[in-house]
Amino acid sequence: MTDLDQVRLSGSRCSECGETSLGRTSLCANCGRETVSEISLSKRGTLWTYTVVRHRPPGDYKGPDPFVPFGLGLVELPDGLRVLAPIQCDIGQLKIGLAVQFKPFVRRESDGREIVSFAFELVP
Ligand SMILES: [Zn+2]
Repeated sequence: MTDLDQVRLSGSRCSECGETSLGRTSLCANCGRETVSEISLSKRGTLWTYTVVRHRPPGDYKGPDPFVPFGLGLVELPDGLRVLAPIQCDIGQLKIGLAVQFKPFVRRESDGREIVSFAFELVP
């Protein structure tokens, strides 16, 4: 097991209304109360919908050069939220309802720094 295997997405859940959101927050996005606590989000989810990005995104795109089309999906997690992320698979395999799993990875910046980023991949 590597350190990357320990990486999970963080979320926040409100104990009053049950709203779950991505990342750490101090206020509930639904009811505005401060009754939120941090949770680790599930590693597996379902591809709720997707699109195929067929043109190199503008700006500081970090993907392969030359550009390779990729899937960008909304993954529905059992925790009660959807997360937007690249879907790492052959774009011909993309299909709504597929089981996918969280996949953290390390990306090296041009200045040598290492950044932990994430995508989802098909469950084998
Ligand atoms: Zn709430």
